[in-house]
Amino acid sequence: MFDPLEMAVITERIVCKDNLRKYYRFRPSRFYGGISTADSVGCCLRCVFCWSWREVVRPEEYGKYYTPEDVASRLVSIAKKKKLH
Ligand code: SF4
Repeated sequence: MFDPLEMAVITERIVCKDNLRKYYRFRPSRFYGGISTADSVGCCLRCVFCWSWREVVRPEEYGKYYTPEDVASRLVSIAKKKKLH
């Protein structure tokens, strides 16, 4: 077993730097009629069915740091490119 609160503190030290936050992917998706979405790095749980296991257990090895403005800009850009409403 592990303590998710303790894991959150450890994970935060890796994935957050001032106002920067780690993301490993920006992408369009067909869900909800079409969306643009960002996949962040950093989780304090360890679900057995996790689809992002590599990023969850080794956050230091995945993603890059982005500002909130960078993230918003990328999401809007994807939405425009894919003509999402
Ligand atoms: S599925 Fe993976 S990313 Fe989602 S809460 Fe569980 S461990 Fe975290």
